[in-house]
Amino acid sequence: MAAKPRAPLYTPRPRFNLLRLPVIGRLLRWRWGRLALQIPLLLLALLLIYDGFTGSPIASRNLATIAPWVHYRGLVVLALLLVGNLFCMSCPFTIPRTLAKRLSLRGRRFPRILRNKWLAIFTLFALFFCYEWLDLWASPALTAWVIIGYFAASFVLEAVFTESAFCKYVCPLGSFNFTYSTVSPLQIQVKNSAVCASCVGKECVNGSYSPQPVILVDEIGINGQPVKTHEHNPQGTPGCGTLLFAPQIQSNMDCTLCLDCARACPHDNIGLFGRGFGAELSRPKLWHNRYDISFLVIGLAWLGLVNAFGMISPVYDLMQALAATFGLTALGLSDKLIEGVALLAIFIVGAGILPLITTFAAAALARAMTRTAKRDTLRIALTNFAPIFVPLGLGFWIAHYGYHFLTGLGSIVPVFQEFLQNHGIGVLGEPNWALGSAPNLELIGAAQALAVIIGYAASLWLSQKIAMRLYKRQMLAGFVVWALLLTAMMLAGLWLFSQPMEMRGTILFD
Ligand code: SF4
Ligand code: SF4
Repeated sequence: MAAKPRAPLYTPRPRFNLLRLPVIGRLLRWRWGRLALQIPLLLLALLLIYDGFTGSPIASRNLATIAPWVHYRGLVVLALLLVGNLFCMSCPFTIPRTLAKRLSLRGRRFPRILRNKWLAIFTLFALFFCYEWLDLWASPALTAWVIIGYFAASFVLEAVFTESAFCKYVCPLGSFNFTYSTVSPLQIQVKNSAVCASCVGKECVNGSYSPQPVILVDEIGINGQPVKTHEHNPQGTPGCGTLLFAPQIQSNMDCTLCLDCARACPHDNIGLFGRGFGAELSRPKLWHNRYDISFLVIGLAWLGLVNAFGMISPVYDLMQALAATFGLTALGLSDKLIEGVALLAIFIVGAGILPLITTFAAAALARAMTRTAKRDTLRIALTNFAPIFVPLGLGFWIAHYGYHFLTGLGSIVPVFQEFLQNHGIGVLGEPNWALGSAPNLELIGAAQALAVIIGYAASLWLSQKIAMRLYKRQMLAGFVVWALLLTAMMLAGLWLFSQPMEMRGTILFD
């Protein structure tokens, strides 16, 4: 009797791999695929710089203020939630990277002391503070300078250092995208880790610059003869700029989704695989219990509140009260400087001191109430719960950026029409300013509240999961502490977003 065929010991679960899709997959893996996505954004950036310097100084009539502050930010949060880090993937600031890389071949690595997220936390804080203080949203010329500053900083850092230091350690936009891409449903993963174990070149991280094949033989058959060989692309493909090693990637943090790893891997062993929303947030040890990463995500959630506070009228009362209390007016300072000092105080308290005090207090209280003070350091107690600030923070930013996006959605059309008309191109006709008319603010308010509540619910769910993992039978005591902090932040968010907000960058606000 013939023996029954044995069932395989392990059948890999079929996974969705975006890079296997017929057209999109080919385009993304194509050597010039990223450049094809970057060129349109480069042209857009040049257009914004041009209009910023030469167009109307009125924010709601200039592409430089409308496109980045109203439309770009709304689209970015949506893309992060639904797909992934699409902006970094098509970021135009890194286009001069190849030239910069040639200059940096003999360069050094970024200083060890700065290889963390503290610099990114500072640049995020500085960008949001300058945005409010200098009214970047209202100044096309200043916005154009910000875009130029991005190009310059990215190029200089790429040229001086061997790795993509700007993306990984400095860029505030990238840091925002890294943080919230942790909820995205796509992630770089290897198809078969056994292939990586025997891979000699590790091209996904080292790149395949060699004009000659480095690995001549991939597999040796049973007769000792090679059964498969491959050659490197003679033009070379860069490896991962942020120095992620594909077989070890478990998080979207630091991944710009550039897909250089997929192009460089000679074994076609990398995919962009589907996963559950925020799947990585509940996995232990993924974020390495680092204070810098923890305070990046915690600080961004608080910055979401502070940034929204800067758009409602009570902020002006508070700034006046601060100026009077600290006697700033009596010092003979200019109004702009007084505003800057008062606003800086609000930012330092709201996005610096409050996050530090509340999270350290919550961690200490949770340790005491769960009687784990001897077992866990304060760092362990705090950093394990840092991921719970991601969904709530994203809820704040969706509510904030979504508001600008929806209130200013139609305004891009007449602004573009006017731009063309000013340059003698009348193909789109007269500007139709009616498209920028008042949207249904009640509906938008309801959507904002929903975004905050959904983010809050996801953060609570995550907290109980982490508390269960960390404190087991004592989980309730640990969970309650963090849930109280989340509830206070959620209520603050609901109050902020229920206030009349400035419709910045729209014709209704000028
Ligand atoms: S992903 Fe590709 S290049 Fe990287 S180690 Fe695995 S097989 Fe080698
Ligand atoms: S792992 Fe590195 S090379 Fe691969 S997509 Fe992410 S950033 Fe790019």
